[in-house]
Amino acid sequence: MKSHTPGDHDTIGMIAIDRAGDIAASCTTSGLAWKLPGRVGDSPLAGHGLYCENGVGGAAATGVGEEIIKVCGSYHVVDLMRQGRSAQEAVEAALGRVLARSEEGAAKMVAFIALRADGTAGFASTLPGFQAAVSRAGKHDLLDARSLATK
Ligand code: ASP
Repeated sequence: MKSHTPGDHDTIGMIAIDRAGDIAASCTTSGLAWKLPGRVGDSPLAGHGLYCENGVGGAAATGVGEEIIKVCGSYHVVDLMRQGRSAQEAVEAALGRVLARSEEGAAKMVAFIALRADGTAGFASTLPGFQAAVSRAGKHDLLDARSLATK
């Protein structure tokens, strides 16, 4: 997953599962440009910028970290999958919580990717401009993420 906000920031999140069923999640970040000294963001915070759990799935986030932290974003996505939601349903539900907290017409850029333990993936963003790469068995696809913001 890669964010596309020209002149702003650039994060890549990754989730992988191996043949033994072990799941790993990671994210790199340049952080938000011109960030305040001391700002941490969500990327280094387990449960916010990334989270995974064997037998359930993994998630990673990009976008405005303050919005992701407010909903414990990546943990929330994984917990929804634990409750039986598909990966796509889980990322969209978590983004719904982000959007519900945003002011009318002022949605911030946030995106999640998710991978369930059964190998199915989901991804979406609040605003347009996010893409996700899905690789399995030698096949690689770069796909535009569905964006959900209506306000
Ligand atoms: N989420 C990161 C942060 O808030 C920024 C990014 O996604 O690039 O620091």
